[in-house]
Amino acid sequence: MKKFDLNRILQWLAHILRCPVCGHKYEASQTKIIDAADDKPMMGRSILVHTDCDKCKSSVVFSIAIDGPEIFSIGMVTDLTSQDTSKFKNSQPISSDEVLATHEFLREFDGDFRSILK
Ligand SMILES: [Zn+2]
Repeated sequence: MKKFDLNRILQWLAHILRCPVCGHKYEASQTKIIDAADDKPMMGRSILVHTDCDKCKSSVVFSIAIDGPEIFSIGMVTDLTSQDTSKFKNSQPISSDEVLATHEFLREFDGDFRSILK
């Protein structure tokens, strides 16, 4: 079975991907693979890539699915760094109950962080 050459994929991604905010071409050095799904078979594998734009300083996370000769990518502008993206990639989504609980908390919160961080 053929193996992924992640360095070649990174170079190729930096060549074809453009910043959705300003259109600047990405640098390979600013593009990091967060999750290459090494435990999955090559067909149907999905790669998570984080890249920073040199020009406008925005960051984008791309999910890239490779299915034989076809490659699909979905990009999402984010304020996460590549380290944050690695940290949170397997986290559960925030539930609506958690959002409501935070809203309720903030409605009553007096702004005194010293008292809540004790
Ligand atoms: Zn940009």
